[in-house]
This record gives sequence, C-alpha cells and structure tokens, in this order.
Amino acid sequence: MAEALLGPAEIRELAARLGVAPTKKLGQNFLHDPNTIRRIVAAAGLVAGDVALEVGPGLGSLTLGLVGAVRHVHAVEIDPRLAAALPGTVPAAHLRVHNADAMQVRGADFDPAPTMLVANLPYNVAVPVVLHLLAELPSLRGGLVMVQKEVADRLVAGPGSKVYGVPSVKLAWYADARPAGKVPPAVFWPVPNVDSGLVAFARRTPPAGVDRRDVFAVVDAAFAQRRKTLRAALAGWAGGAGRAEKLLVAAGVSPQARGESLTVEQFAAIAAAAKVSPSGGKLSAIEGEHEEVDS
Ligand code: SAM
Repeated sequence: MAEALLGPAEIRELAARLGVAPTKKLGQNFLHDPNTIRRIVAAAGLVAGDVALEVGPGLGSLTLGLVGAVRHVHAVEIDPRLAAALPGTVPAAHLRVHNADAMQVRGADFDPAPTMLVANLPYNVAVPVVLHLLAELPSLRGGLVMVQKEVADRLVAGPGSKVYGVPSVKLAWYADARPAGKVPPAVFWPVPNVDSGLVAFARRTPPAGVDRRDVFAVVDAAFAQRRKTLRAALAGWAGGAGRAEKLLVAAGVSPQARGESLTVEQFAAIAAAAKVSPSGGKLSAIEGEHEEVDS
C-alpha cells in the first residue's frame, strides 16, 4: 500500500477543512484506523488486475488503501461535498469519482468494468445496494463489504439459522458468502452504537432455467409470513393454498416446511414449478374456495 493512510488526527483535520459534519441520514461513520483499512484490503483478496468499486468513499480512508492494490478504482459517493473533495485526498490517475446514488448506478456508468466491490457501506442501505450492484454488474466476481454486524450475520446465514431470511437467500442467488471478521465501533468517527462485520462473497452461477424476479417473488412471499408453513405462506402468491401445495410437491418441497429451512435452489424449484403449471383462472378460483388457514 503506497499511499499514507488516514488516522484519527488526519480525519478530524480533513473534515474540519472541508466543513463536513457527518450525517446519520447518509450513514456517515468514517474509518480512522489504518490497521482496519489494511485488514479490509487484505481480506478482500484483490489481485493487481482488479477494478475495485467502492460505494461511499467518504473522506477517502479506504480509497487510499484500494488505489495501492488494484489497477482502477471507481468510487461512488452520494454526498457532493465528499465526492468533490476526494481527488484532493486521493490524487491517483486510476481513481474515478462518481457523484451518484449507488442505488441508481448502471453497468454502463463504469469503464473499465468493476470486478470487485469493496466498501464500508452506508448501513441503512447496505443490503439493497449489494443486491442492486450484483444484479447490475455481472462483471463483479466478488467483494468484501463492511456492514452492521447483525446484517453481516443475516447475509451469511444458511437454512435453519434463526437469522436466515430474505437477504441471505437473495445474496445466495448471486454469490457464496462467508463471515470475514468483526470490527469494533472505536475505529470509526463518529463512534456508532453497533458492532460491524465483514462479509466476503464470491460470485456463483445462479440456479438455471428460472428468472431471478420469479424466484425472489417466492422468497418474499415465504418470509413475509415466516412462521407459517409454506402451504399457507405461499397461498397468496400461488392463488390459493391448494395450488401452493401442488407446486411445492412438484418442486419436491414439503408443504409443511417453512421458508427458513429452504435453500435458494429449492426456492428456484418452486418458481420453476409455477412456470410449468401457470395459474389458470378457473383452477385457482376453485382451489381458492377450499382454502384452509394453517400456520
Ligand atoms: N468509506 C468511508 C470510510 O470507511 O471511512 C465512509 C463510509 S460511511 C459508513 C458511508 C458513506 O456512504 C458516506 O460517505 C456516505 O455519504 C455514503 N453514502 C450514503 N448513501 C449512499 C448512496 N446511496 N450511494 C453512495 N454513497 C452513499
């Protein structure tokens, strides 16, 4: 890492000079610990040919670490003051700053195409940002993100875990994720009142023959009523509990199971079964009449 990294004194001085008062609304907690930066860059498993995408560079703490490790860095920052100041803090020819909302960026905005997402994410939008970028940027081979510890636990959880839910299954559609360590509040300014966690992920081939949106609709329905059996939880989505049961059986999933026990492949199998057996108005109307409520 060739560039000098920012410690607590530099971060305060930089913020004062730029007139930046961190806002909670934008999740602005800045890293001021060079060891944590080195740890994140090392844990990301970057190679020199990578193109890093950083969401929320803030004052540039992590950006300084990234420019020394890869051939190009795209930094997407929503706060115009921070975006404008970044090239002054990180004077690297291979850094491109995008003053944009990470939720709105498209693949065409980036040249060269990003291969790794490495970010200390704004915690209030962390999960939607990761999912949006994985959908929008097929060039991403993986990433390392810092998020609230509780969210990190959800993202890496597998079926059967208490915290397995929509973020876990949707991330599993795109990638294999694993925990990559815990980060204490003291390394941030201002100090957040939550622990943070690192999540590493590597892109995988998603289940074949079925549309992502169709699978995600099943996932959303299953977890909207996570205590119910899938037969009941998927009744609304399927057009009746009877049809939900048929589709579950066709997918090889027990109608009495709950969403929290299913892998992403099983959710995909349910969506695929619905595609093979589209709901006919009459059929589902008849099934609807016999709808039972189970829990
Ligand atoms: N990477 C810096 C660090 O580690 O010190 C700052 C991380 S701070 C947790 C989150 C950053 O994301 C802030 O700079 C904030 O302005 C920015 N941000 C918040 N929402 C954003 C969005 N939707 N798109 C892009 N950047 C965003």
